[in-house]
Amino acid sequence: MAKKIKYSPARKKTSGLFDLTGDLFAMPDREPSVLEQVHPSIADFVVNAPEPKDTVEPSDDRRSALELDVDGVGEIDSLVFMSFGSGSSGNCAYLGDRDGGFLIDAGVDADKVKDGLKANGIGFDKVKGICLTHDHGDHVRYAYALVRKHPHLGLYCTPKALGGLLRRHNISRRIKDYHRPIYKEFPFSIGNFELTAFEVSHDGTDNAGYFITHGNHRFAVATDLGCITPRVDYYMRQAQYVMLESNYDAVMLRNGAYPMHLKARIAAANGHLDNADAARFLSEIYAPHLRNVFLCHLSQDNNTPDMALDAARVALMGAGAAGVGDGSGSIEARGCAVQLVALPRFDVSQVYVLRCD
Ligand SMILES: [Zn+2]
Ligand SMILES: [Zn+2]
Repeated sequence: MAKKIKYSPARKKTSGLFDLTGDLFAMPDREPSVLEQVHPSIADFVVNAPEPKDTVEPSDDRRSALELDVDGVGEIDSLVFMSFGSGSSGNCAYLGDRDGGFLIDAGVDADKVKDGLKANGIGFDKVKGICLTHDHGDHVRYAYALVRKHPHLGLYCTPKALGGLLRRHNISRRIKDYHRPIYKEFPFSIGNFELTAFEVSHDGTDNAGYFITHGNHRFAVATDLGCITPRVDYYMRQAQYVMLESNYDAVMLRNGAYPMHLKARIAAANGHLDNADAARFLSEIYAPHLRNVFLCHLSQDNNTPDMALDAARVALMGAGAAGVGDGSGSIEARGCAVQLVALPRFDVSQVYVLRCD
């Protein structure tokens, strides 16, 4: 196991730096205020991050990548996956098939999500629900805006997570109208997908990863977790596609400008996962069925995509992967056994078509 832990999921939660102050659920015409009262060193852990620097329009480079990949969007047996932002400034991703799908977390502005889907030929009516991992602001900030604009959406989370969301954030209680209660280890369905939430070690009110199946496809998500616990291991090693946090480089964190208490909180067993632990875990679960690895929630201040990718690539190769591609769909990448991608912090990712055979 990657790290020795004292694991106590029922640990009492206190609000703090992973939480947000201010009006997180402001409507688009009343955007959240910027980080006025927050020390710059912790900007990475609050969601009122700098303005996203991307637009939804894909760049020429990305467009060519999309043209390679997007062909499979309508295939009966393929899944599509894309991310609209990943990291402490906002998390949201989409997983769907040709009939529809769902969002994982709601930390990105509704219009950006809608435009990102539209740019890839996916109408918002295809989105059936939002699955929340936990109640930190970078995962829930736009939950109410999304369901209010799109009332057909269900908001899937545990009752405890909903309670935390209402208690810790300034949010309309009407969000309860959209709540679809889920329970860890009890599968539920959205469209053609079956999902099982599982416990992860983090300091939200209640913290979940998801194991998602669809025909022969198995997709697993574990973000915001301080260590690899047996349930994380159990689900992730079954999946052909994993989305795994690779938050920080331990040396960068140690030598960086964050205050000591924040460094300790990030490095705690219920904080965030570092590159080395993420990479070690990937080497442990590597098996020939593993096709795609999406590294997520990279820290802006304590990590770089190259460092996270290098650690994971070396680990996968060391575990026997016959080539690690960059997920671009290029001929070279297609020749590799595993595709490894670091999800962009602010940009909308390309769409990834997931096929299993
Ligand atoms: Zn987070
Ligand atoms: Zn969190």
